[in-house]
Amino acid sequence: AISGAEVTLEALPLREDLRGKTPYGAPQLDVPVRLNTNENPYPPPDELVADVAEAVRAEAASLHRYPDRDAVALRTDLADYLTVSTRVVLGEANVWAANGSNEILQQILQAFGGPGRSALGFEPSYSMHPIIASGTRTDWVPVPRRPDFSLDAERAAELVRERRPDIVFVTSPNNPTGGSIPLAGLRAVLDAAPRIVVVDEAYAEFSSQPSAVELISEYPAKLIVSRTMSKAFAFAGGRLGYLAAAPAIVDALQLVRLPYHLSKLTQAAARAALRHADATLATVHKLAAERDRVVESLLGLGFTPVPSDANFVLFGQFADAPASWKSYADHGVLIRDVGIEGHLRVSIGTPEENDAFLEASKEVPR
Ligand code: PMP
Repeated sequence: AISGAEVTLEALPLREDLRGKTPYGAPQLDVPVRLNTNENPYPPPDELVADVAEAVRAEAASLHRYPDRDAVALRTDLADYLTVSTRVVLGEANVWAANGSNEILQQILQAFGGPGRSALGFEPSYSMHPIIASGTRTDWVPVPRRPDFSLDAERAAELVRERRPDIVFVTSPNNPTGGSIPLAGLRAVLDAAPRIVVVDEAYAEFSSQPSAVELISEYPAKLIVSRTMSKAFAFAGGRLGYLAAAPAIVDALQLVRLPYHLSKLTQAAARAALRHADATLATVHKLAAERDRVVESLLGLGFTPVPSDANFVLFGQFADAPASWKSYADHGVLIRDVGIEGHLRVSIGTPEENDAFLEASKEVPR
C-alpha cells in the first residue's frame, strides 16, 4: 500500500475556498492528432536543439551555485526581441521573466491584487485568470463580451469606470475566441481603469494588430503587457513567460517573486532558443496561413468559425459540444471543449494534422 493513502483530500485542513475545486488542465489523451493546447506544432529546428543542449551542458558545470536571481542576461535578450518586433525601445529594466506567463500573472496578482482587491475580465476568456485571482484571494468580476465574442471597448470602459477594479485583464488575441482588440479600444479601457491593466498577449505574434507595448510610455503606471515563449517560439516545454512594463512595475514584482525562481537551465535554454528566433518565428506565417485555410474549410462544411487572429479557432455550431468533442477524440483528433455552449476550439497544427481535423469534422455529430 502507498504510505498515507488512507488520508483523503476532504480530511485535510484545506482553505475553505479551495474545497470541492478541481485542478485546471486539458485532458491529455494519447491520440495521433493533438490540437488542444495552442502549442506550436512544429518541433524546434536541429540547430536550436543543439544550441540548447550545449548551453545547458555549459551551465551544468556550475549547478552547485544558485542562478542569477534577476536573470539580467535573459531579460536583456527579451527586451531586444521586443524592441525589434514592436519598434518600441525597451531595456532589461522594462522586462521581467518567470516560469511561463501563468507565473507572471500570478506575481502580478500577488503584488497588485489580493484580499479586499478585485480583478475584472471580459468573458469568455483565458480561464486561468479567475483561477489565479482565486488562488491569490482576489475577487473576480466577470464582464460578458458581445454575443459574437468581440469586445465592445466603449461599454467595457464604462463598466471599468463603474466597478473600479484594481486589475483589468484584456486578452488580445483573446483565448479561446481568437479576436484582437485594436489600440484605440485598449486606450479607452486604460483611460477608464483606476489602477492596473494587464494585456495578456500570449498570442501576439500571430496577430495583425499592433502590440500594447506601444502604449507603455503613455500609461507607465498602469499598463503591463504579458507575453510567453510557449506559442510562437515553440518553447512550451521550456516554461518561459515574460512581461513588458515600466521599470517600477518590475520592481514591484520583485517583492513577491521567489528567489532564484528561474533555474540556470531555464535561463540558458531560453537564451539559446531566442538566438534562433528567426527560425521558430518563421512558423508563425505558416500557421496563420493554415488558420485561414481551416476557417475557409470549416465555412465550406457549414460550420460557423469565429474570426481568429491567433493560432486556434473557436467554431460551432454543435447541438451537444461535449458529445462532438468525444467523437473527434474517437476519430483520433484531440481538440478542446472550452465550455462555451455549441462551440469547440481547435489549435492550428501542421497541414497534415489540420487535414485530419477537417476530415473528422465531416463525420462528427452536430
Ligand atoms: N495567457 C493565455 C491567454 C494563454 O492562452 C496561455 C496558455 N494557454 C497563457 C497565458 C499561459 O501560458 P504559459 O504559462 O505557457 O506562458
